[in-house]
Amino acid sequence: MAAPLARFPTRKMIDSVLNFLFPVACIICGLPVLERRHSSVCPACWNTLEPVPQPICPRCGAPEAAIEDRCIHCRTGGTVFDFARSAVLFNDTAREIVHHLKYSDRVSLANPIGMRLRQTLKEGFEGRLVIPVPLHRSRERERGYNQAELIAVTLGLPVASRLIRRRKKTPTQTGLSRSQRAHNLSAAFELRADVDGMTVILVDDVLTTGATMNELSRVLKRGGASRVEVLTFARVADGISRRSRPSAHLP
Ligand SMILES: [Zn+2]
Ligand SMILES: [Zn+2]
Repeated sequence: MAAPLARFPTRKMIDSVLNFLFPVACIICGLPVLERRHSSVCPACWNTLEPVPQPICPRCGAPEAAIEDRCIHCRTGGTVFDFARSAVLFNDTAREIVHHLKYSDRVSLANPIGMRLRQTLKEGFEGRLVIPVPLHRSRERERGYNQAELIAVTLGLPVASRLIRRRKKTPTQTGLSRSQRAHNLSAAFELRADVDGMTVILVDDVLTTGATMNELSRVLKRGGASRVEVLTFARVADGISRRSRPSAHLP
């Protein structure tokens, strides 16, 4: 008589073996993370992420009051893209998660981030082609990956990673004003294929002032894109960034 087929180990069994061999400490609070699907952030810390506070502008998703569906930036021509939403507010937890995804090789964080973004995609996105915000080649080589691309491939839609090339290595945008950022970015991107009549989704980890997204949207619209949508994990909201460490973990 044939031996019964070995049963596949459950997720839980695999996790406990991995936790024994390679324990993971939460990058935020330091406690062990027992379920690997959370990557290197424990469930309590994931729970300290906050949605972007309402009301938001129906077009750009900024937490701003809107008149006739447009906030002050959208009404005064400050928004080139047609629609934007972010999964969470850029609070302390989001900052840590993005920092580790970008600078300390915690690439598996892209999966739980992607899980949240797949929910956000249901909030009115029409595009079926995803374009990760490109890094300059030399920066991508240094880092070994483009974090926007890691997030983009988790969304379950076609991804066009090489559609736009970053032409020059733009100095860091940190600390620059809105207009300085726009100047810094002009002519930074080159579109390498036709997007005539297409609706596309630009994806990145954080939306700060929107200067990069605006410049990319300009390039895409010049190339014929009919609608440019923007999806990011976190959104910086001027003056709204609460401390969010889980109090249970504080000494
Ligand atoms: Zn934690
Ligand atoms: Zn707006």
